[in-house]
Amino acid sequence: MNLANINEIEKLLSKEGFSFKKSLGQNFLINPDVCPAMAEAVCDSDTGILEIGPGIGVLTAETAKRAKRVVAIELDERLRPILKKTLGEFSNTEVVFGDAMKLDLKALIKEKFSDCKRVCVCANLPYYITSPIVMMLLERRLPIDEIAVMVQLEAAERLCAEVGSRESGAVTVAVNYYAESEILFSVDRTSFVPAPNVDSAVIKLKIRKEPPIKVEDEKFFFSLVKACFAQRRKTLVNTVANTLGISKETLKTALVNIGEDITARGEKLSMEALAALSNELIKSK
Ligand code: SAM
Repeated sequence: MNLANINEIEKLLSKEGFSFKKSLGQNFLINPDVCPAMAEAVCDSDTGILEIGPGIGVLTAETAKRAKRVVAIELDERLRPILKKTLGEFSNTEVVFGDAMKLDLKALIKEKFSDCKRVCVCANLPYYITSPIVMMLLERRLPIDEIAVMVQLEAAERLCAEVGSRESGAVTVAVNYYAESEILFSVDRTSFVPAPNVDSAVIKLKIRKEPPIKVEDEKFFFSLVKACFAQRRKTLVNTVANTLGISKETLKTALVNIGEDITARGEKLSMEALAALSNELIKSK
């Protein structure tokens, strides 16, 4: 069965009376070049692949051909009979039905991939929870090596931006803290059924063994980063004072001590400067 062929997909879905749910981010891939390229980006015969949202299994099938084992988590129970048909031939592949945001992924990875040398995530993510899923995968410090996921182009540009650049945001800093990121290729909106209103891109995140900066208090560092980007047009001193309730004097002194201008904007600071500021403010707490 050609799962990237629109006629075959429609035949399969109408047979099961399936209708797309926008609320679940159901845009299925119909471009035959995309899934093999995504699978090639992370799969080899020693790798376990975790997929979030297999849909009818078009990407799952491509990873199943190349990886040692594949576990796909799907929220929509209506896809159960379809996935049984489309993935039946792959003995190394299993579908778990549940909410990827709520499952204990650490335990699942440990249980399912104990015989794999490495574990990677490969998925065409539901757009309504793209960043929460990426952040969840990173923040939970799951035992994974690489992530290759399709996200909206705008999200890709933000997630993979250089910290301090115009496209960067709090999420850019967070991604950079946990991983090295790159945009692999962009994907036109016509590659999906139904076609979304925006183009997409596949990004690759290589999980770091150690963060690139040393922060004394991770929780405080991330709340500072969030505060820095909360009001982009304001100076760091104003926005952080408003958001975190730290006095302007303390913030100015900390900025001077780390060699930054007191009129600096949070979004312009580098990873190193953000870490230095966080460590400096911890000292004065
Ligand atoms: N992988 C398929 C493809 O590329 O054609 C489908 C991708 S579609 C963009 C997203 C898939 O994620 C849908 O199958 C949807 O039902 C599923 N999904 C949505 N929310 C989910 C969640 N919280 N946990 C697991 N799967 C979810």
